[in-house]
Amino acid sequence: MNIKDSIRTIPDFPKPGIQFRDVTTLFSDAQAFRMAIDLLLHPYAGTPIDKVVALEARGFILGGALAHQLSVGFVPIRKAGKLPGKTLSEDYTLEYGEATMEMHDIAVSPGERVLVVDDLIATGGTCEAGIKLLRRAGAEIVGCAFIIDLPALGGRKLVEALDVNVHTLCEFEGD
Ligand code: AMP
Repeated sequence: MNIKDSIRTIPDFPKPGIQFRDVTTLFSDAQAFRMAIDLLLHPYAGTPIDKVVALEARGFILGGALAHQLSVGFVPIRKAGKLPGKTLSEDYTLEYGEATMEMHDIAVSPGERVLVVDDLIATGGTCEAGIKLLRRAGAEIVGCAFIIDLPALGGRKLVEALDVNVHTLCEFEGD
């Protein structure tokens, strides 16, 4: 069982030139999904974690399973306008233009230790916005865990430069 082999690549989605790394094939494979959850948590065994925080949208699928496995709470960080209550928000830069990520203001308490999760880290912009939201809320970030790293896009280095531990299960070349 190899995690990387269970991920499908769709060329030119959502636009020409992008190699879309499709984790739905991993999610639909019982053994691959189970193994991915175990491997994502492996470095944090024995480390106190109060909450799992997931980045929209595929991060939610992983985050729910991780939170259940750890018996801790789950917090979503969503794109602007999706969360119903009062939010903290952070703008970040995309390849073309800007976007905003939001988190409920009451979702995390000062001093809580959180694990951040998403399916893939590319430029790291989404994760950086999440880190900023969590730090504004007073959270302590135990680490950021991803199934896939695209090292050519530099996201891991960006997040590590923010003094946050990054854990990934496999890498794909290119962007
Ligand atoms: P970034 O903010 O650049 O690190 O982008 C990370 C977010 O965009 C994650 O939520 C990913 O799911 C998504 N993403 C970026 N590039 C890809 C790709 N090549 N294949 C699949 N998802 C991607």
